[in-house]
Amino acid sequence: MKYKDLGSWLTEAAKWTDSYYSTIRDQPVRPNLSPGDFTKELSSSPPEKAEGIEVVFNDFKRLVPRAMTHWQHPNFFAYFPANAAPASILAESLVSAMGAQAMLWQTSPVATEMEIVVIDWLRQALGLSKDFKGTIQDSATTATLCAVLTMREKSLNFTGLTKGLYGIKKMRIYASDNAHSSVDKAVRLSGIGHENLIKISLDNNLSIDINLLEEQIKKDIRSGFMPVGLILSVGSTSIGASDKIGDLIVLAKKYKLFSHIDAAWAGPAMICPELRHLWSGVDGADSIVFNPHKWLGAQFDCSIQLLKDPTAQINTLGLRPAYLETLESHEVTNFNEWTIPLGRRFRALKIWFVLRTYGLTGIRELIRNHITWAKEVENLLDSDPDFKIITSSPFGLFTFQYSGISGDSNEATKVLLNKINASGDCYLTQTEINKKFVIRVSVGTFETTRHDVLRIYDTIKLYTCEEN
Ligand code: PLP
Repeated sequence: MKYKDLGSWLTEAAKWTDSYYSTIRDQPVRPNLSPGDFTKELSSSPPEKAEGIEVVFNDFKRLVPRAMTHWQHPNFFAYFPANAAPASILAESLVSAMGAQAMLWQTSPVATEMEIVVIDWLRQALGLSKDFKGTIQDSATTATLCAVLTMREKSLNFTGLTKGLYGIKKMRIYASDNAHSSVDKAVRLSGIGHENLIKISLDNNLSIDINLLEEQIKKDIRSGFMPVGLILSVGSTSIGASDKIGDLIVLAKKYKLFSHIDAAWAGPAMICPELRHLWSGVDGADSIVFNPHKWLGAQFDCSIQLLKDPTAQINTLGLRPAYLETLESHEVTNFNEWTIPLGRRFRALKIWFVLRTYGLTGIRELIRNHITWAKEVENLLDSDPDFKIITSSPFGLFTFQYSGISGDSNEATKVLLNKINASGDCYLTQTEINKKFVIRVSVGTFETTRHDVLRIYDTIKLYTCEEN
């Protein structure tokens, strides 16, 4: 295939995309496949001879979509939303067309300058202090790892980078029982060691218990540990719980802990001013992560890390070998110095497209609808004696259990979930709360309608009736 053929194949791709979205409702949300089914369709050895693009494209159409889980499906209520708004898909296609690489200002001036501007738009959209600057990371996991490395190095006056962690006091990082596994991963990878991530139990409001946290910090100091950081959640993945940010940040400052807020999924909802009390005090944080690739429509990958003062992170992650020096190094932002990989995608374009084509008003309306409709279906289940709502969150997420006829609610709920998901009608996932197996309902897909969301109740009822 030659560049001259690209236009006509992009036209074919556009036609395919059109038909994909116009028929997506007819597809099962999750394919009914067993592990390995798809592998059998692929040749086990690489192609020695070139094949025509039409052959490859036909194989794509024949094989790939039916082996996909359709995250943009209006009946996708699993995990968390991962929206790819049409404007974002278009922007990503354009970025791909240019083969952009945005590691330095000089390697894509537009990417760097647009990144600075759209991050500031998002900062304003979420009502955050103008003291924050930011960068676009691939994922919240990477942002949290960067924040943990920065906590570590700031507390060592940046000596860990050169001397390693040998012979120094053991560090301690604190988070809640509810923290996402990316926090565990970051602490493991940072060399601080998983044993030194101290998970603090929750209080009655499902926030880190501040008294327990302070007692633990004092005990650690007395025992010769070095407390370095506090990681807080806004909208935990499992149940959508949030830590009491303001009070906890005051405590972090008292003990000189670097604070990082993981608002990966729920952070975008703060575009709605009426929700901002849920992270009140957030402006005191040192670092915040939220994912436009979840609830803002700028598809994966697109995660924003805001930093009160980026210097410590740049000192931790930045390197300037001679081959990366540019004449204007001192007057520009070279974002590779803020992140782990050198190479960087041009992710700002999709944010620019999405924010301009929806406007903040349009996105607020989508998010408010999701939250309202989730509450409606939660209320339907709540008023049905066969079900018990176990947790309810302000971010369009709740969990429930089915009582079943056998009296074993855990087993009945598990069987119900499997039936619903095998049907392909809608896709729900599970979590565990105090040893209870519960079904999570997470509403946030841009294409979903009130009718789709209310139909979750009908689907659940259908598969419970089957049991009876
Ligand atoms: N933190 C929270 C609260 C999340 O909900 C998620 C994903 O669900 C993550 C972190 C990880 O996000 P990413 O896939 O961008 O690394």
